[in-house]
Amino acid sequence: MADDAIDRVAGAALSGEPGWEYAPAPESREIVSIANEYGLFVDGEFEPAKKGRTFPTINPATEEPLAKVALAGQADVDRAVAAARAAYEQVWGPMPGSERAKYLYRIARILQERSREFAVLESIDNGKPIKETRDVDIPLAAAHFFYYAGWADKLEHAGFGPQPRPLGVAGQVIPWNFPLLMAAWKLAPALAAGNTCVLKPAETTPLSALLLAEVCQQAELPAGVVNVLTGAGETGAAIVAHPGINKVAFTGSTEVGIAIAEAIAGSGKKLTLELGGKAANVVFDDAPVDQAIEGIVNGIFFNQGHVCCAGSRLLVQESVADHVVDRLRQRLATLRLGDPLDKNTDIGAINSRQQLDKITELSSAGEAEGAHRWSPPCELPKKGFWFAATVFTGVSQSHRIAREEIFGPVLSVLTFRTPEEAVTKANNTPYGLSAGVWTEKGSRILWMAQKMRAGVVWANTYNRFDPASPFGGYRESGFGREGGRHGLAAYLDV
Ligand code: NDP
Repeated sequence: MADDAIDRVAGAALSGEPGWEYAPAPESREIVSIANEYGLFVDGEFEPAKKGRTFPTINPATEEPLAKVALAGQADVDRAVAAARAAYEQVWGPMPGSERAKYLYRIARILQERSREFAVLESIDNGKPIKETRDVDIPLAAAHFFYYAGWADKLEHAGFGPQPRPLGVAGQVIPWNFPLLMAAWKLAPALAAGNTCVLKPAETTPLSALLLAEVCQQAELPAGVVNVLTGAGETGAAIVAHPGINKVAFTGSTEVGIAIAEAIAGSGKKLTLELGGKAANVVFDDAPVDQAIEGIVNGIFFNQGHVCCAGSRLLVQESVADHVVDRLRQRLATLRLGDPLDKNTDIGAINSRQQLDKITELSSAGEAEGAHRWSPPCELPKKGFWFAATVFTGVSQSHRIAREEIFGPVLSVLTFRTPEEAVTKANNTPYGLSAGVWTEKGSRILWMAQKMRAGVVWANTYNRFDPASPFGGYRESGFGREGGRHGLAAYLDV
């Protein structure tokens, strides 16, 4: 859109006048059939939890109950680990890599074939906009299976010695922000390397992992190779602590990551942790402003900011700060918040009431500590969990909103004068997962990338993912890498 058109629409929205209205463009729910009740996926079959316990999963955009899901206890964990062990020893471990690859390809192809169904289901259970599940979550999940299928018969060429060995049974605990994608990040490299898996999706988003279990059946994956145990934190803790687990992979909060590291210390289990972040997105005065604005918006408002690598701290050079913030406000006024299944929606629902409370509390703390809070005029739906895009200016480094992971659509703006100051401020965090740099100078990009302590640094872009590219953090953001050749190392005895 030309600048004057952006100004017109944004100006209208900021003044509360109607700009232009988008006609509703809802994606149909018909393609998805949600059962009333779901069992655990153990040894190739769905079965109720041994104690018969269940928990509800709801649509966070409407609070409508979707289904009852089995809650796995210790006896279920024992059974799933035993099934995974048997599959590892008798079928999957001894199977040639070229055969394992075929199953991974099959899963990838079925994900593609059923992508619309997955996209709709993920939007309903998670609250994220359909355009993101359709264009990002599901295609990337399939891409991970394709990518690691390619490695399954080439492990001896991956740089880990002539005959790298799998570890055995992997216990994998994933969060709610990218439910299917995180399952793919965990399962694909583990399976390619010859391990079997016990996966626990998050309590608020179990449905796409259960549909993936159905895909495993459809692909005729041997029983026990992938087991999906739904449940709460205690289920995750039981998987992690189980003596039959050889490798633990966790994505989630730093707090739980630390608890897991303590729980398995000395057990000999191999561990990778992908934890929180408080990334700096650094905009220099020579950056192309319109592109930077898109990158800032994508960095923090993509997936309602429920992104560990979100660019939640905008560091902008003082000489252009006012201009950048003005442009950003204009752009935010054009974002559409609402029905996640509408193809025009930019900002969907917050995943849970608990997360909404956390975002609300931290945002109130930002105001109380003296930062200036701004949101575009925006009507929130009456039911469900919603939070308007929010920008804080006048933020200082000691404010909680500059230090703590909010995990919501909330941006804290800080300024800097020199590149050295930008680096110091960017690194002034206990985290170290990701960062962004916006400048037209290639030499400055390289200098910044060397100086910033972050596992991933994006230059003149943000939130770009590719299965071939390793991802992971330093310090309180965890350790180990997922994706690429490095992602295999986490599942091999190297
Ligand atoms: P958690 O870290 O608690 O949850 C992540 C996963 O771990 C879920 O499957 C959870 O199960 C499980 N889990 C919880 N406790 C344990 C345990 N003791 N042992 C093993 N597994 C466990 O994140 P929350 O959902 O509670 O979110 C809290 C905050 O964490 C967010 O506000 C956000 O700041 C941050 N977060 C960061 C993520 C990231 O990718 N960096 C992802 C998610 C959250 P269950 O869902 O059933 O509780």
